[in-house]
Order: sequence, then structure tokens, then C-alpha cells
Amino acid sequence: KTLTVELGERSYPIVIGGGLLDRAADYLRQAGVPDKSPLMIVSDDNVAPLYLERLESALSGGGYRVVSAVVPAGEQSKSLTVYNDLVTRAIEAGLDRSSAILALGGGVVGDLAGFVAGTYMRGIRFVQVPTTILAHDSSVGGKVAVNHPLAKNMIGVFHQPELVLYDVDTLNTLPPREVRAGLAEMVKHGLIWDREFAEWCWNNAPRLLDLEPEALIYGLERGCAIKAQIVSRDERENDLRAILNLGHTLGHAIEAVAGYGRYLHGEAIAVGMAAAALLGEERGGETGLYAETMLMLRALELPVTLPEDMDTEALMAAMQRDKKFREGRMVYIVPSEIGRVEIASDVDADAVRDVIERLKEKEE
Ligand code: NAD
Ligand code: ZN
Repeated sequence: KTLTVELGERSYPIVIGGGLLDRAADYLRQAGVPDKSPLMIVSDDNVAPLYLERLESALSGGGYRVVSAVVPAGEQSKSLTVYNDLVTRAIEAGLDRSSAILALGGGVVGDLAGFVAGTYMRGIRFVQVPTTILAHDSSVGGKVAVNHPLAKNMIGVFHQPELVLYDVDTLNTLPPREVRAGLAEMVKHGLIWDREFAEWCWNNAPRLLDLEPEALIYGLERGCAIKAQIVSRDERENDLRAILNLGHTLGHAIEAVAGYGRYLHGEAIAVGMAAAALLGEERGGETGLYAETMLMLRALELPVTLPEDMDTEALMAAMQRDKKFREGRMVYIVPSEIGRVEIASDVDADAVRDVIERLKEKEE
């Protein structure tokens, strides 16, 4: 099944299905990637032992010359140091303006390899080969970046891929906690855009958690399609695209305050989405908005409360430092009903404090 991200000249296909790695050369050729210059595959040291050889041999069997670079798994690899190593490798391997860089892995590898592709010789072709559920979100839309020690994703560019090749067979080796975290971004796409899809995620939660192929493919397709629609209408985040940040202002703060690694990104934004729903209901959103959001997130086995000892003021301070500001005011994405959100810049800090307090686990 193929979707298209409509961006005029920069439009590109998203192919989702099983057994795609083995047919990678055909898809690259269809997407217009020439074979006269070498390609570089970037992967991490969890994913490479599982899938790198298969992708390499599919590509070289199809007439492409390939070099590979494997980085340590984890967020720390989204750094200027690792970026520099990859550029060195690309120069040594003779990558030129007709080369492509392929990201084989999750969002970390996608963001990192994409930033190399977006900046090497002022930008060369880029192909996303996502291997996590979360990466249905990160591989579509063209935002690529590395981290600065003081802030996540601070150094980046917009660079759209030529192709997203999503082989769902790779998801079978994903650790269960990563599965759940990825499903948080999937249901997010329903919560911001499509009530029916949010409810579908809820009703099919057990099938999704079990990685049932049919459910997984439908969920990823619908998630990618929603993201693609939003990105098509607002590629550079002037306005609409901000709704993709539902749950992220508090989510990023939770990640930072708890210490990176304690919460997976998807877990932190699940709590953030629960908070946003509570805020939304209190601002006059539909009755049951919060309760229903909680049920959906719980069905996906995601956290919806905060530990009692998490420091509210530290969270508030971290949210102020987040980069999602508009003319100096904090912008919150607040649901008004399931499937519909508003971009609010008039949210009172005390209302946010109150919601955080209410999310703290109560002794039952
Ligand atoms: P990740 O890339 O770190 O992958 C999670 C873990 O799973 C890693 O340990 C990885 O090695 C392992 N893994 C990946 N695929 C596997 C597989 N098939 N089998 C077994 N193990 C596998 O994390 P992620 O959750 O995919 O992505 C998170 C990153 O994405 C963050 O850096 C975030 O900033 C970024 N992100 C970017 C965007 C964007 O628009 N660019 C959007 C959302 C998130
Ligand atoms: Zn996210």
C-alpha cells in the first residue's frame, strides 16, 4: 500500500507492508534514486545486526553500491560528534550529489541520518526505512535534527525524504515497551484529527499490542496519512502543524525533569495528552473528553498519571524553556473534543499547575 505526501515538487511516497526490505532496490529506482553514486546506510547497533545485511544485499543485488555506518543505539547518538563522524565516512566513501543516505532504524537514526543528508554538500537524497512504530511519525514530514547538550532537536533543517519504505516485518523484534510508546503517537494522530481513528485504536488496542499485521498496517497507514495531510498543508510549521505537538509541551518537560531515559518519549507524551484532555474539558470541551482519553491511553497500556514526588515547579520551569513559544507566550495544544484540538496561547499558568497536581497518583 502506497500513500503520497503531497508537497508539489517535493512529494514522496510512503510504502507500508511486509517483505519490503528485500525489494528495496526496486523501490529506490522507482523513487528516482540513481545507481551511479554510492549510497550510505546509517543504522544503530541494535537494528544493524537484525536487518542491515538484508538491506545491503537487496541493494547491491539490485545494482547499487552501498557503504554502511553503525552508530550506538540511543538518543546520545543525535549529537554533532556522531554527525561529524558520519560526514567523515560519507566523504571517505565518495558520496556525491547524486548519492542517497538511507536511515535504517527508529527516530534517532532517522533524525540523525536525515540531518547528514540535509546538510552534506547542501543536501543530498534521503530515504527513510523506519523500524519502530514511533517512526511512522518521525519519518514523515521532513524535520531532521541533532541535539545540543542544552536542548533537544536544537540543530536541524527541513529535508524531505525521497521515499519512506516501511517494512512492518521489522517491528516483530521491537521491545514491548517501545511498541507501546510508538502507539502513543499513533493514537495522538486520532486525537488531533480523526475521532473515528482514535476510537479504532482504542477498540483494536489488543491487536496493536500483539503486533497483528493487519491491524498494524492499517494503524500505521492511517497515522502516516494524517501526518502527511497536516504536513502538506503546513510544511514549515507556520500554524496548523503545531497541532502535532499535542501532549508534547508537558511531555518534553516530564522527560527532562525525570531525567532522560526514565520515560520513553511516547510514555511522556501519553501523560501530556491526558493532561491536555483534562485542561480541554475544564476550558469547556465536550463532557467525557478526559475520561475517554484516559480509557484510550490505558487500553494501549500507557501511563496517564504522574508520580506524587514529581516537582510541579520544575515541570513548569521546563515548559517555559521549551521552544514552542509564539511571540513570547506559551502555546498549548488543547483538545475541545476527541479528534479536534485548538492552538491556545491564552492558557493560564495556574490552570496548568492545577492539572499537573490532579494528575499525580492519588492513594486509593
Ligand atoms: P529509537 O530510534 O531510539 O528506537 C528505540 C529503540 O528501539 C532503540 O534502542 C533502537 O535501537 C531499538 N530498535 C529500533 N528498531 C528496532 C527493531 N525493529 N527491533 C529491535 N529494536 C529496535 O527511538 P524512536 O522511539 O524510534 O524515536 C525517537 C526519536 O525520534 C527521538 O529522538 C525523537 O526526537 C525523534 N522524533 C522525531 C520526529 C520528527 O518529526 N523528526 C517526531 C517524533 C520523534
Ligand atoms: Zn513525539
